[in-house]
Amino acid sequence: MINYSSDVSLKDFTTMKLGGRAKFMVNLKSLSQLDQIIEWVNKESINFLMIGGGSNIIWLDEGFNGLLIVNQLPGFEVENHQNDWIIKVGAGEIWDKIVAKTVLLGLSGIEALSLIPGKVGGTVMQNVGAYGQEIKDSLIDVEVFDTVAKKYQVLSRDQCLLDYRSSLFKNYQPRQYLILSLRLRLTKNNFKYHSYEALDRYFDDHKIVPLDSETIRQAVMNIRRTKLPNPAEIANCGSFFANPIVTQEQFDKLNLDIKHKAPHWTFDHKIKLSAAWLIEYSGLKDFHDRQTGFATWFKQPLIVINENGKTTKDLIKFKDLIVNQVFQKTQVRLSMEPEFLPN
Ligand SMILES: Cc1cc2nc3c(=O)[nH]c(=O)nc-3n(C[C@H](O)[C@H](O)[C@H](O)COP(=O)(O)OP(=O)(O)OC[C@H]3O[C@@H](n4cnc5c(N)ncnc54)[C@H](O)[C@@H]3O)c2cc1C
Repeated sequence: MINYSSDVSLKDFTTMKLGGRAKFMVNLKSLSQLDQIIEWVNKESINFLMIGGGSNIIWLDEGFNGLLIVNQLPGFEVENHQNDWIIKVGAGEIWDKIVAKTVLLGLSGIEALSLIPGKVGGTVMQNVGAYGQEIKDSLIDVEVFDTVAKKYQVLSRDQCLLDYRSSLFKNYQPRQYLILSLRLRLTKNNFKYHSYEALDRYFDDHKIVPLDSETIRQAVMNIRRTKLPNPAEIANCGSFFANPIVTQEQFDKLNLDIKHKAPHWTFDHKIKLSAAWLIEYSGLKDFHDRQTGFATWFKQPLIVINENGKTTKDLIKFKDLIVNQVFQKTQVRLSMEPEFLPN
């Protein structure tokens, strides 16, 4: 028997704590429930949206005239192949609990992704990354329900088109697939530390040698706790702006001051700029806007916090203010990382 709630506040389903109401909501706990839910929405012609932990979404004030499916699909199965371990994880598991379990087993591959909020399914949506690791480095495949073909499928990592903060699910065929589980390949006795500036500095300062995934997890957690606001205490969606990617030609046209000072990284003939630096350069770090109730975080200006904002309309005003001022000062246009829903 499926328990559908009705007229639910969407503020409780986003770490930004904004949004209108959903007509219906259901917690998805098994695949047999999913079959029944799909049958119901098809029969009644109801729109539906699946989410995980709501840490990368912002609901519009108008709300959602459909069914919100909150993925709570469980699962943690391990196949042990000596050095390579394959784990299959339910999309509704809390991501950081899975990282903790794998580190406890002495496995390596996702430890630098410690403390990223949200659920397992959300990680492939935008190919989550932090401290030199991305989910695409260890992903084998993704089990999905294809809502167009109306069948269960397994998509290989290559089919998921994972790239910097993008994927098949987010950029090419949004809403077509419901993510049900992932398989990851982790290593047991093959730990390698891939140098990353913030971690190098942490290990130097604390005189620690990174010998295993546990050392990396602890370092990442300590750095994140000092740098980022905890969404359970201060409403936010993590990085609100993505690092802009420009061509060499666009980079060459930037003003000399920016070209010389702005941190940037070259990859695949493109250049990634630091959005945090551009915001700070534009005088918007620790910027509090009394009119809208939003601010940029004093330690990391990429993060927009909801101090006492009431509406998504005001958040959009705040975002436009930042984007326009950064563009005026730098000629670089920032784009948002979290997604407005429904879209
Ligand atoms: C403080 C903070 C720090 C953060 N740090 C990082 C970071 O370092 N790196 C990084 O990459 N991200 C970071 N994030 C962003 C966010 O936590 C991740 O993107 C996370 O993986 C989102 O997972 P979620 O379950 O909350 O997804 P949600 O916000 O619930 O959903 C995000 C999108 O995915 C879709 N979706 C979610 N689950 C499913 C599913 N099972 N099937 C189909 N569609 C689905 C939703 O419809 C929506 O479009 C941070 C966020 C916060 C608040």
